[in-house]
Amino acid sequence: MTQVGVLALQGDVREHALMLEQLGCDVTPVRRVAELGAIDALVIPGGESSTQDKLLRAFDLREPLLERLGSGLPVLGSCAGMIMLARDLVDGITGQQTLGAIPMTVRRNAFGRQVDSSEVALVWEPDGSSMHGTFIRAPWVESHDDGVEVLATATGPDGDRHPVAVRFASAIATAFHPEISADIRVHQALLDLI
Ligand code: GLN
Repeated sequence: MTQVGVLALQGDVREHALMLEQLGCDVTPVRRVAELGAIDALVIPGGESSTQDKLLRAFDLREPLLERLGSGLPVLGSCAGMIMLARDLVDGITGQQTLGAIPMTVRRNAFGRQVDSSEVALVWEPDGSSMHGTFIRAPWVESHDDGVEVLATATGPDGDRHPVAVRFASAIATAFHPEISADIRVHQALLDLI
């Protein structure tokens, strides 16, 4: 059975776990280095990226995680998880570090604090189908290298369209929360990378 880890330091771990179980995976909450070794893919959940960053370091998980990502572990990051996967950040807190798995700059809290949460109709570019994204104090992708594939875009409060789902090598990141919908396509895209 496919073993999928969900980074369980902070955030909406349970929602991702339920979604993955529904897809037939065996789910491991990851809090220790040993748990990182046993998985075929990893999810970094939504939550608060600056807290996740601090806890990763406090639990001595940052270096082993960088190593596994460097050797191609398939990974999905949603919202705070997207921030964690970025190479560079705009509006991070002082000293906030990311994992750099995707060569992109992510703007934290890009959709604004006033609009805390919204439902947005998206086009899922891999097959042109429609998708609903739930955005909660969400980031967007400010810029990215050529090799980064844009999977969905959304209009920001600035009136421009910005990437809100991307893939690079074996990493997928979404600014929205696929785990709090009944839509399995994003998690399935992660499993397809294994
Ligand atoms: N704004 C949060 C952060 O900076 C992300 C919000 C979320 O994951 N829903 O990490």
